[in-house]
Amino acid sequence: MVRATSYNNVTIAIKKLQRNYSILTDEARASRILCMIKADAYGHGMVQCAKSLEEIGCTVFGVAELREALILREAGIKSTIFSMMGFDDCYAELVVKNNIVPVVYDKNSLKALSSASQSSNTETVVYLKIDTGMSRLGIFPEQLPELIQVVNILPNLRLGGLVSHFPTSDDVSSPVTLQCYEKFELAKKVLPETDDKYFNHIANSGGTLNFKETHEDMVRCGIALYGYYPDGKPRLGDQSLQPVMAFSTRVIQVKDIPAGVGISYGHTFITQRKTRLAVLPVGYEDGYSRKLSNCGEVIIRGKKAPIRGRICMNICMVDVTDHDNVEPGDETVLLGSQGEEAITADDLAERCGTISYEILCMIGNNNERKYIYQ
Ligand SMILES: *Cc1c(COP(=O)(O)O)cnc(C)c1O
Repeated sequence: MVRATSYNNVTIAIKKLQRNYSILTDEARASRILCMIKADAYGHGMVQCAKSLEEIGCTVFGVAELREALILREAGIKSTIFSMMGFDDCYAELVVKNNIVPVVYDKNSLKALSSASQSSNTETVVYLKIDTGMSRLGIFPEQLPELIQVVNILPNLRLGGLVSHFPTSDDVSSPVTLQCYEKFELAKKVLPETDDKYFNHIANSGGTLNFKETHEDMVRCGIALYGYYPDGKPRLGDQSLQPVMAFSTRVIQVKDIPAGVGISYGHTFITQRKTRLAVLPVGYEDGYSRKLSNCGEVIIRGKKAPIRGRICMNICMVDVTDHDNVEPGDETVLLGSQGEEAITADDLAERCGTISYEILCMIGNNNERKYIYQ
């Protein structure tokens, strides 16, 4: 059977992803880069992204949970894969057999890993997650000596290093980042002497870009890889990160309506003048948030057009009264650029009261993606 494709297109520009990685390599200098590809690479497709990043020398990836790590292994990804939220103890054997690096925060997981490693006659390298101020996953630094002792006592386990996470590194002026880092440095002092090198890491994109002194042995970059700055403010210059994702649709109908007419559910917009509307086959089901009702913009024929009325599940309307001859079939950019105009995930995020991260996940993970070598 012939498969019909959607009106809507998410394109992922592989060369831009690779270029962002190289820029981050320069930023990280001596430290290695762990590419965070959780949430299907923030909506960009984790398998394709992992392959393209491996091609240019990346050897370490991070995902949220084991399920994602196993999909990567199945797809042939050979690099080191960190499962940042650990694993369910009943899957210890899968962790060991697939050579996934578990980030651990309790004794029971260590016990489960130790028995699975003994059964497979292998040594498993574990990382311990400490909470230095995020108040999210992880043990407090005071609990570290005890957990290290458990790693040392249990057979077939080796400590790879410490992992922590910054809560406010997007904000250059916040003192919190260096306070957290200070706790991390103190925690490192508890690590036993060893011949194997530890790989300690705490910096996310914010830490990588804004706090060089926190880079340690490795930095974990997520949003920056996909071309966005964690504070939502783009930078200028030839070393600036470039957005990787674009999202477009096309006009399916154009119609003229008189003044004084309500548009879409709830009639939240009433025309003030004779209006030409373009109907777009895109809505919140496609990750185009309902919060953009009456406040979003799209680009048609190189010019911005405002959303009128509520965004529906699969449809929305834009005002093209001031455009020249918009026709059905016209390419419409929802995220990305056309002619001189551009719309970024930061622009959409601001209007939706969220961050670029969520916009990318929503759009990327709800549409078919096309990969282009640009
Ligand atoms: C998501 C995540 C990162 C990456 O954060 P960005 O701000 O996207 O760079 C790093 N570390 C952990 C533990 C994460 O959950």
